[in-house]
Amino acid sequence: MSGLGALLPLETPAETHFRERVRAWLADSRQLVVESVPADENPGVLIERARQFQAELFAAGFAGISWPQEFGGQGLTAREEIIFVQESAPYDLPNGPLAVTLGMCAPTLLAHGSSEQKRRHIRAILSGEEIWCQLFSEPGAGSDLAGLQTRAEAVPEGWLVNGQKSWTTWAQFADFAILLARTDPQRPKHKGLTMFLLNMRHPGIVVRELRQMSGRRNFNEVFIDGVPVPPGAVIGVVNGGWETATTTLANERTFISASWPSATLTQRLVELATRRLPSLDVELGQRIADIWCREAVLRVLSIELLETIALDQSPGPAGSLGKLGRAELGELVADLETDILGLDSIAWQPGDSESASVVADILHAPGFSIAGGTKEIMRNVIAERILGLPREPRTEGGGAPFSTASRRVLLNDGTS
Ligand SMILES: Cc1cc2nc3c(=O)[nH]c(=O)nc-3n(C[C@H](O)[C@H](O)[C@H](O)COP(=O)(O)OP(=O)(O)OC[C@H]3O[C@@H](n4cnc5c(N)ncnc54)[C@H](O)[C@@H]3O)c2cc1C
Repeated sequence: MSGLGALLPLETPAETHFRERVRAWLADSRQLVVESVPADENPGVLIERARQFQAELFAAGFAGISWPQEFGGQGLTAREEIIFVQESAPYDLPNGPLAVTLGMCAPTLLAHGSSEQKRRHIRAILSGEEIWCQLFSEPGAGSDLAGLQTRAEAVPEGWLVNGQKSWTTWAQFADFAILLARTDPQRPKHKGLTMFLLNMRHPGIVVRELRQMSGRRNFNEVFIDGVPVPPGAVIGVVNGGWETATTTLANERTFISASWPSATLTQRLVELATRRLPSLDVELGQRIADIWCREAVLRVLSIELLETIALDQSPGPAGSLGKLGRAELGELVADLETDILGLDSIAWQPGDSESASVVADILHAPGFSIAGGTKEIMRNVIAERILGLPREPRTEGGGAPFSTASRRVLLNDGTS
């Protein structure tokens, strides 16, 4: 199977050679490519497959393509990174479950971690040895992430962490985490947060699996009870956690928009419609064409964003564009699949694994409109930070300390 075909502008012979190497390797590695994932697939199996594939990718020299060689990367450029994305677009690579590790935690560590942290972890991440998770959201802090309550208190040996996190993807398998915690409640909301590197195997950390409506089990609640963290575990600077987290979120949004859709999405929809419907009407054809157009635009945008990241720059608020586009596309695809399956989207024949798998994807789609920031938040970011429109009213009361501001909000909520 060939990739997207198009060469980069002014592609050099060395780059074309790299492209051919990627193409040949992907063709040889077909047995590692996931065809479809049953809804009730054991998450442990998925993670193990992801680890194995990542190890193969690393051994072949295709992990961390533009990342520094001293930390295990290939030391190449954004252009080789894009070539890999182009060539792998027709495949469902099985390292999707490592998205949080590779697309969110590792770039944060690379941008803000100490040399010691990078030396210790980046190579292990790229080679599939370490799984990481992102401990940001809490039951009362999702969109309003800076309102989080998990505390890291300064103690003579470093820090003592107490709190609860929710919706933590793949935490049940994670070896390490990036943790956002409040280190100074006397400072304004965004100014008293710090990011930490947390060993997920430490006693006092309890991970409880959550089952989603799609039947998949990659979510968790995480309880952190009196867990000591050494001073060297701070990522970035103390009380500078909001800036560090902004890097994570920008990478997360870009990664989500870049990692999907694949070039085969429309083709799969056409095949599904042709197989399942006696005839294809015009309206359905128009909807598939609309999806194809959006997919093509997103692919161009994703490559631009990846280029920005690989050039060592933060994608900034532009990542929100791709994230929003991807969420909307996911909803359109889910609606279309529901219409194609008809009654089979509610109750299908025993043994109809295709319907079971498509329904799991349909039920999974709303999650992508929420993960990494909801559609409303993406529109706020685009309005305020890209278009320069007026900011929405803030509830935290200017520069008031978090401890008093959060109390005031609660009082307001209670009396209004
Ligand atoms: C698939 C998935 C994976 C996830 N993985 C992780 C993970 O690994 N780690 C992690 O830390 N978190 C994770 N999350 C959590 C995710 O970041 C939050 O769910 C998300 O930020 C929304 O927060 P919330 O669920 O608390 O919703 P809320 O913030 O309570 O929002 C509820 C509704 O109010 C709207 N709303 C809120 N504020 C505004 C506003 N200012 N303007 C307009 N509308 C507003 C929202 O758009 C939404 O519709 C994951 C979520 C999903 C669905």
